Amino acid sequence: MESHSEDSMMKLIFASNNTNKLKEIKALVPPHIQVLSLQDIQFDIEIEETGNTLQENAAIKARRIFELTGEACFADDSGLMVDALDGQPGVKSARYAGEPSDNLANIQLLLKNLQNTEDRNARFQTVVCYKNAEQEHFFKGEVLGHITNEMHGNNGFGYDPIFIPIGYTKTFAEMAAEEKNKISHRKNAIAQLVAFLNQI
Ligand code: IMP
Repeated sequence: MESHSEDSMMKLIFASNNTNKLKEIKALVPPHIQVLSLQDIQFDIEIEETGNTLQENAAIKARRIFELTGEACFADDSGLMVDALDGQPGVKSARYAGEPSDNLANIQLLLKNLQNTEDRNARFQTVVCYKNAEQEHFFKGEVLGHITNEMHGNNGFGYDPIFIPIGYTKTFAEMAAEEKNKISHRKNAIAQLVAFLNQI
């Protein structure tokens, strides 16, 4: 394995308090990049996601944390885009069925809105925004698939029980975390961020 000196160690703040995501992201970045959550740097802050797109929301979060810390950081925003629903729930994925965010209610509403609809094509997307003093970059990850008629599986979160990625016969919720994380939209976007960090 490649070894890195103290000099080449890199600290990077992840503008999120989501411990599941942090775990997933830590597993994806090489050991010389130390990812710190907002909790790790003792920032108790909720950043409102007021953007109209995943890119806007990722930028809002990364810019805010950079403004407060002056340190290199990144933020992500994800959503499920369904073709037959003109890309909904999209940026509103977490609160598709209203406030407060309710995974089961979101799934039920989505299945209802797709009742008798033949076109089940959908995609998960993640946009990551990286920001430091000199630059700001966006990385977009995607996984294509389709929406099932019923829920299958208990793993994962969000819309996982009703999403089957292309080339598979089971939903994300029927996969082990390691299997999903190899092909997920987040993995895809983070891999691009890591490739970028490795060459700056
Ligand atoms: P976030 O921006 O990553 O917090 O994602 C916003 C919402 O999109 C989540 O609350 C979920 O409803 C949905 N979502 C994002 N990524 C996934 C995933 O990997 N599986 C299932 N649902 C997801």
